[in-house]
Amino acid sequence: MNYVSTRGQAPRVTASQAILAGIAPDGGLYVPESWPTLDLDWSALQNQTYSDIATQVFDAFFDDFSVSEIDYVIQKAYGKQWANENVVSLHGENNLTYIELFHGPTLAFKDVALQILPHLMTTAAKKQSQNEKIVILTATSGDTGTAAMSGFGNVDQTEIVVFYPEVGVSDVQRQQMQTEAATNAHVIAITGNFDDAQKAVKSLLSDEKLIKELQQHHQRFSSANSINIGRLVPQIVYYLYAYAQLIKKGTIQSGDAINITVPTGNFGNVLAAYYASQIGLPVKEFIVASNENNVLTDFFETGTYDRDRAFKVTNAPAMDILVSSNLERLLYFVSGRNSEEVNQYMTSLANDGKYTLTSATRSNLDKFTVGFATQTQVLETIRRVAQEENYIIDPHTAVGRYVYDQLKPTGTTLLAATASPYKFPQTVLEALNQVPDTGKAGLKQLSDVTQTDIPAQVADLFARPILHKSTIDPEQISRTLRQEIL
Ligand SMILES: *Cc1c(COP(=O)(O)O)cnc(C)c1O
Repeated sequence: MNYVSTRGQAPRVTASQAILAGIAPDGGLYVPESWPTLDLDWSALQNQTYSDIATQVFDAFFDDFSVSEIDYVIQKAYGKQWANENVVSLHGENNLTYIELFHGPTLAFKDVALQILPHLMTTAAKKQSQNEKIVILTATSGDTGTAAMSGFGNVDQTEIVVFYPEVGVSDVQRQQMQTEAATNAHVIAITGNFDDAQKAVKSLLSDEKLIKELQQHHQRFSSANSINIGRLVPQIVYYLYAYAQLIKKGTIQSGDAINITVPTGNFGNVLAAYYASQIGLPVKEFIVASNENNVLTDFFETGTYDRDRAFKVTNAPAMDILVSSNLERLLYFVSGRNSEEVNQYMTSLANDGKYTLTSATRSNLDKFTVGFATQTQVLETIRRVAQEENYIIDPHTAVGRYVYDQLKPTGTTLLAATASPYKFPQTVLEALNQVPDTGKAGLKQLSDVTQTDIPAQVADLFARPILHKSTIDPEQISRTLRQEIL
């Protein structure tokens, strides 16, 4: 099975080539040329481990990898670094089940994909006889950077460079980044917000002179962003696993269609649910939940994507995004794989900051429903769920829960719980009417107030030495990068 670009102007490539390239040369995103056929025998899948199901999915989507290569990457990614033997776990019953995706090393769902991406990339590089060192360059609002460093840290033939904004990361996230001990990790704060950091990093990725200098040092840029197909495919696995577990628990019967609610930023996680549905997961509704940066809510309600609005730094910072890159992949499929149409949308987005769907394409979005939560509603939701259900959720999960409660879909719903409350202790404590402490005391306070255990992954976080202290202005970014890696 090959991959083609959403914009139709790039040659088709194999899975390993798509993983190495990240973005296609025509500026589009790689998508499967056709949907692979999987034998989703739910009665058998109920008794399979997470790794078993991952093996099936990867065999299908990454079909130029050998059986032993797939086994190797899975064994590297889904081992002892997880607090949970089966990577994810389910919480709740009756109509609403949370799928907890945050039991990995950095306590957010991005670990599921970023624990495996480095091994997919280095294996793909070997297959393609590519000997250059891979330099992963990332701008992060907090979760991508920590998860990328945890995944790429000390992986041979890679360097990982993370730029994060001074404003808008939680103190746990900042501490996770500043104490990263991997010898190939470079971490730099940028004055300003996430948008400023992202713009600065984008300027590097398109700097031809810099790219040439890298080549002379046998290095090349790559991206750990969710535009990489190697990040998207691993996320399909947990939707299949969760569905099989719901059957096993008797919540649903094989074949029942479920709703999937996803707190959304770059549209990667919800797109993975859509991919799962295309290969046989029965889904009734996809519920796309946004925070105050509600550009997707407006898009699904009106058919017009308009990024021309103020960027807001919210208490669910991993969803503070105005251009959701992976939406382009959905447009490709709902337009009937019409790359010309996708090209037109993306050209108007670049030139005018907006585009409007044709009515035919729009009519194929009827399974997507939407809503958003304000920052106050996030706090209220955390408090209410704690009181009524004795369950502590993080601010991103709270966005999903709020929208779920607004829409009240019928039938069984899976809600993606994307981060641990311990990644955002101050916001959760504020929601619980506490005056939050910071640092180690904040973790302890959250544990005392909620009668839950501090996850082992962060138990000694504030005792680790600070290794990365520098803060730069965005204009200094290219000089700083050269100092770090050349
Ligand atoms: C990245 C992130 C999201 C958004 O996921 P997308 O795939 O970008 O839509 C939501 N919640 C948390 C905690 C995240 O880290």
